[in-house]
Amino acid sequence: MNRRLQGIGMTSRRTRERMISRLIEQGIRNKQVLAVMTDTPRHIFVDEALESRAYEDTALPIGHNQTISQPYIVAKMTELLLEKGPLDKVLEIGAGCGYQTAILARLANQVYSVERIEPLLKKAKDRLWELGIKTVGFKHGDGVQGWPEQAPFDAILVAAAPLEAPVELLEQLAVGGVMVLPIGREGMQTLHRITKYENRYEDETIEAVSFVPFLSGVSK
Ligand code: SAH
Repeated sequence: MNRRLQGIGMTSRRTRERMISRLIEQGIRNKQVLAVMTDTPRHIFVDEALESRAYEDTALPIGHNQTISQPYIVAKMTELLLEKGPLDKVLEIGAGCGYQTAILARLANQVYSVERIEPLLKKAKDRLWELGIKTVGFKHGDGVQGWPEQAPFDAILVAAAPLEAPVELLEQLAVGGVMVLPIGREGMQTLHRITKYENRYEDETIEAVSFVPFLSGVSK
């Protein structure tokens, strides 16, 4: 790994390991998730001025009114997906800075990620390239439509909160597949895990969360 990826001081592996200890204290148990988050530098996903805060357990601004998800949330959502079995083909809605995308890419065979803000998408692509991750397909678009050409997916992760689970996304889940997403208006959101069965869906409410809203249309 080159020096920028490796980090020093507040961006070093030791700082990252402290973040992992906190995740364990917060209840994250999945060893694969913890291992991948130990190995993935988070500081390269935020602006240089914020690098020293990259391993705090907070959301940080990434521009365009958006935030990088809190490490606990990234870990929790990934763990919820993995509980249903190994990940083959995953759809992510809301790539943002690409950190969650990188974590998913290291645990799944193939990841497809849709982002509505073009400059964020471009940066996310560049960072994954820098990490040598080449198994992610990116698309600039409104995630409400999912990625029908690549469906069905055995897992879908939505990183912004709609008022209800988008129907097109439910349709693009494979039978036995799971979708993890926040639902609700700002200040009143809960994290859900929806599992698709032959002729019904199971909807589990996990816990209260705080995400940016799921917006429609695209932005240049
Ligand atoms: N996991 C990302 C989260 C970024 S915030 C990270 O840690 O960086 C949520 C992202 O969802 C934002 O980048 C926002 O632009 C995107 N988003 C919101 N609504 C969307 C939609 N309808 N389609 C695609 N992306 C959307």
